[in-house]
Amino acid sequence: MKTKKSNKLYKKSIELMPGGVNSPVRAFKAVGGNPIFISKAKGSKIYDVDGNKYIDYVLSWGPLILGHAYPSVVKALKKAIEKGTSYGAPTKLEVELAELVKKAFPSIEKLRMVNSGTEATMSAIRVARGFTKRSKVVKFEGCYHGHVDGLLVSAGSGGATFGIPDSLGVPTSYVSETIVLPFNDTEIFKNTIKEHWKDIACVILEPVVGNMGCILPKEEFLKALREETEKYEIVLIFDEVMTGFRVSFGGAQSYYGITPDLTCLGKVIGGGLPVGAYGGKKEIMKMVAPEGGVYQAGTLSGNPLAMTAGIETLKILKKTSTYKKLEEIMSNLEEGLKDASKKAGVKVKFYRAGTMFCTYFTDTEVIDAKTAKTSDTEKFKKFFWGMLDKGIYIAPSQFEAGFISLSHSKRDIEKTIVAAYKTFKEL
Ligand SMILES: *Cc1c(COP(=O)(O)O)cnc(C)c1O
Repeated sequence: MKTKKSNKLYKKSIELMPGGVNSPVRAFKAVGGNPIFISKAKGSKIYDVDGNKYIDYVLSWGPLILGHAYPSVVKALKKAIEKGTSYGAPTKLEVELAELVKKAFPSIEKLRMVNSGTEATMSAIRVARGFTKRSKVVKFEGCYHGHVDGLLVSAGSGGATFGIPDSLGVPTSYVSETIVLPFNDTEIFKNTIKEHWKDIACVILEPVVGNMGCILPKEEFLKALREETEKYEIVLIFDEVMTGFRVSFGGAQSYYGITPDLTCLGKVIGGGLPVGAYGGKKEIMKMVAPEGGVYQAGTLSGNPLAMTAGIETLKILKKTSTYKKLEEIMSNLEEGLKDASKKAGVKVKFYRAGTMFCTYFTDTEVIDAKTAKTSDTEKFKKFFWGMLDKGIYIAPSQFEAGFISLSHSKRDIEKTIVAAYKTFKEL
């Protein structure tokens, strides 16, 4: 694998940007070595500046569910760009995307577009606090909700990767408003609510946790969250920034049949451009300015290019044949990877929800942050580099989910399974 040009760029970038990157996990710290610099991508493939080609299972960390530079998305974007890139005024495109999102997520009666997942969760929490006139937030260990101050406690993703429990620069007074509980533990949750409900504005979670790999919720756990929050008039927020359109067309809430009060979206709904959204019950969303007293705004929110990419993406996802095909691709990969690890004699636990997945190097059932950490990260490191060397690009951290796209061909999956078998053998 040639890395000369990537290394040269890295040398420069590290002088210009912290860690040489604009988002921490990109720096490959969890796997050691230097990051590769990408020059282009098409379909299921990503290409680096040294001319190496990889089958991509990162897909920009989830958004590109159709694959890179999907023809109809590119075509629509080319047309849109001629009409100007931003107006700061309402457009038909925003109405169209909002309608598409609402159709997929019936729990969303009204929504607001923002520019990132972080903005969505930050705003949803503000609305929940404004609505309930309470201040505390319940979150779960290992769930990542973007880099919102009060949520950077036991926050998975970059946090889990670096083993940093918190971030510097977050006042302890903010964090004191956050209650962190173990994921999937119904009893602890119930007891906590019973004791503190008077102060609790909202409960926020990733209904399938994608920021410490891929952890499935126990159904009784989700049910208890819904029942208890309803009983004590606490706002239940599903952060479906990753799971939305990934676990199923209607996200985890549709798959598990649980209706949250508010939902946060991002990633897929922007079709690869920067978008987030939050929405839910009308009575709660009417708190948002200018209808209500909770202020939230954005210069580029509802950006016409981002809306266009989102619309084109959701239009294709709306067809039932799309999810049938995605399911076929994903189950082929699942079977192949499980098989390869078994044949190679490597103990792994494999989990997946719709089109997101994770392979943990452990024989402990992974149900929360504690059990996720039983994974052998040294083995993962070797696995990562072995795969990269064989032309397979997976997330450079054990605690990230993998993704497939509509553009992943049978041949891509076959190649990946062969590479995985060889790499497992090398461990
Ligand atoms: C990615 C992610 C976010 C943050 O979204 P950004 O667009 O990176 O700000 C929030 N919540 C979840 C569940 C995510 O996966």
